Amino acid sequence: MILIAGGAGYIGSHANKILNQKGYETVVYDNLFYGHREFCKWGRFVLGDLADKEQLRLCFKTYPIEAVMHYCAFCYVGESVDHPAEYYRNNVINTLNLLEVMVEHGVKNFIFSSSCATYGNPIEIPMTENHPQSPINPYGKTKLMVEQILKDFDRAYGIRHACLRYFNAAGADPDAEVGEWHEPETHLIPLVLQVATGQRPHIQVFGTDYDTPDGTCVRDYIHINDLAAAHIAALEYLKDGGVSTAFNLGNGNGFSVKEVIQTAERVTGKSIKVIEAARRPGDPPTLVGSADKARKILNWQPRYTNLEEIIKTAWRWEMSRTETRKTID
Ligand code: UDP
Repeated sequence: MILIAGGAGYIGSHANKILNQKGYETVVYDNLFYGHREFCKWGRFVLGDLADKEQLRLCFKTYPIEAVMHYCAFCYVGESVDHPAEYYRNNVINTLNLLEVMVEHGVKNFIFSSSCATYGNPIEIPMTENHPQSPINPYGKTKLMVEQILKDFDRAYGIRHACLRYFNAAGADPDAEVGEWHEPETHLIPLVLQVATGQRPHIQVFGTDYDTPDGTCVRDYIHINDLAAAHIAALEYLKDGGVSTAFNLGNGNGFSVKEVIQTAERVTGKSIKVIEAARRPGDPPTLVGSADKARKILNWQPRYTNLEEIIKTAWRWEMSRTETRKTID
């Protein structure tokens, strides 16, 4: 059985669905602080916090857990700058709890949601796994600290890990059973789509004077199901005896904020009102990753390489949420 810590969130819930489709048994462990009970549609569910070691131990005693996928984290960069203590406690100390309980129960395989935020400002594009890791905000630092802890836990206790460094997770389950639902929402694609549904009056573009082709930031958007598939490939890699390592997960193509908005206008058939705003602190101009290592070693291939296809799945999800809200109202 696979323990999905944070399986009620955006990425964990998509991984849970695909794991179950592939015949894995799963148990989601989530405190529902940011996660949604409605997203736990597959496998078992345990309401618990990683700060609560007794509850974690009970979960490991109850279920025959053979591997852990760990998605629980606070992930707002700005908030991490204002409230670093909460980020270090939740993202680092609570992960340590999870790892210690794994050691107690002899569970050896760990898949970690890491981030391209561990690299900091890019020196070279596309970024490979060998790019220096020099995070520029507490969020990225928490992810790097866990990566470092994992190396020591491998050496000391034989816990093998795959650190998956995501670029920009985007899109939704094509059946719209789960999707992107953050409160508050800060991510570009859902915000743009909420302008299209009329829930928001406009989208602010943070910075139009970057050194990029159209002056707006360029990001590498990777579909959530491609991310989920990579987690399963990494799990199988570790089960087959693969050594601990890190993999970038991205498409290798960059799209600017303006291109995202124009694509969303095409997909939705709506015009999206834009307001040009100041740069958001901590945003590098361009973040594009090379996922060649994952392609080669995990034999993984992103299926959604086209931004329009990614946004279509996000739009289907956003429309279904809007319908549900109307029904409830
Ligand atoms: N962005 C924007 N307006 C928004 C939200 C985001 O212009 O309301 C920009 C942001 O500056 C970044 C890109 O969109 O360049 C992607 O941001 P997002 O928050 O989706 O992901 P991040 O890159 O921070 O992980």
